[in-house]
Amino acid sequence: MSVNENLEKLSNAMGVSGREGEVRELMIKMMTPYADEVVVDKLENVIAVKKGKSSSPKIMLAAHMDEVGLMVKTISKEGYLQFAKMGGIDDRILPAQKVMVLSRKGAFPGIIGSKPQHVQKEDERKKVIAPDELFIDVGAECKEAASAMGIAVGDMVGFDVKYVSLGKDVVMGKAFDNRAGCAAIVEALRLIQKTDCSVCAVGTVQEEVGLRGAGTAAFGVDPDLALALDVTVAGDTPGIREIDTSTKIGKGPALSISDSGLITHPKVLRWLLETAEEEKIPFQIEAGLMGSTDAARIYLTRQGIPSGNVSIATRYIHSPVAVLSLKDIEYSAKLTAAAIRNASKHF
Ligand SMILES: [Zn+2]
Repeated sequence: MSVNENLEKLSNAMGVSGREGEVRELMIKMMTPYADEVVVDKLENVIAVKKGKSSSPKIMLAAHMDEVGLMVKTISKEGYLQFAKMGGIDDRILPAQKVMVLSRKGAFPGIIGSKPQHVQKEDERKKVIAPDELFIDVGAECKEAASAMGIAVGDMVGFDVKYVSLGKDVVMGKAFDNRAGCAAIVEALRLIQKTDCSVCAVGTVQEEVGLRGAGTAAFGVDPDLALALDVTVAGDTPGIREIDTSTKIGKGPALSISDSGLITHPKVLRWLLETAEEEKIPFQIEAGLMGSTDAARIYLTRQGIPSGNVSIATRYIHSPVAVLSLKDIEYSAKLTAAAIRNASKHF
C-alpha cells in the first residue's frame, strides 16, 4: 500500500480521543506485515514490535491515533444535540460544519447549526458564537427520534470530510493530526527491513486531551530512546510571520529544537541531523514552538527517556480541512528508518 492509500484510509476513519478503535484496527492491519508481534495494551495503545539484539538500543516510535472532535452533552426535547469539544478546536470554524454522530446504532450525518445571519442582532454578528450556543442537527424531530437513532449523551462526533488530492503531492483531509504520523510510522516500518535495534512502533491514544496514552505506553515499552512522529504548524500561508513558524510543506521533516513541552535531547538531535545529512534527506529546523507532542510525555517517563520529534508540516491544523505534502510523510519515514539503522553508532 502506498503512503497516499494508507493516509486516505486513516484520514477517513473516525477516532475522536478515547474512541480510537477504527484507527487502531487499520494500524494493526497496516503494521502487522512488518512486525514480529502486534499487541494492544490496557489503555488500548497499539504496539508493533520488531525484535532486535538485546545489546542494541530499544527505540520507541509514537504517533497518536486520536483526532480532535466533539462529544454529545445534552439532547434537547426538539431533538438537537449540544456538545463538548474534545481537544483544541477554534470556535470560529465550528458553525456550518458537516459532522458524523457515532451512535451505538451507526454513524449518522448531521450539521452544526446556529442562528442565521438574518435574525442575528447587530452585536451578535460581530461576535464569535460560543460552542454552547451551537447545536448539531441530525434531522431528528424530537428527543425520542434522536434516541431511536441510538444517539445518547457521550456519543462521539467527528468531522465529515473525505480525503482528496489537491495537487501533485498535496492532499486535503480531516485528522491529518495525526494520521499523517500514523502513515509515516507504517512507512518507516516498511523501510527499516534489517536492523539490530528493537523497535516498538506505537499508535497512542488520547494525545489531544493531554498526551495520555504515550505516558503509559512508554512506561510499558521502557525504551532507550524515542521519537514522536506528528504534525507541526506550517508557516507558508498568508498572515503567518517567520518568527511564528518557518516550516513549509514539501520541504522535508521538521526537527524541533524545543517546543512548550520538550527540549529535544542533544544526542537525539545530533543523531537525527547527522543521519539526514548523510542520507541527503531534506529537513527543516524549528525552535521555540507553542504546543507539544507525545515526546514531551515520553521524555519524562521512568528515569527519563531521551526523545525527539520528527514532524510533518501541515496547514490548517485541528480544522476539518488540513493540507499537507505526501513528500513530507515519505521523507519523515525515510529519516526515521535511516536513523534506526544508524542508532547503534550514536547510543
Ligand atoms: Zn498531534
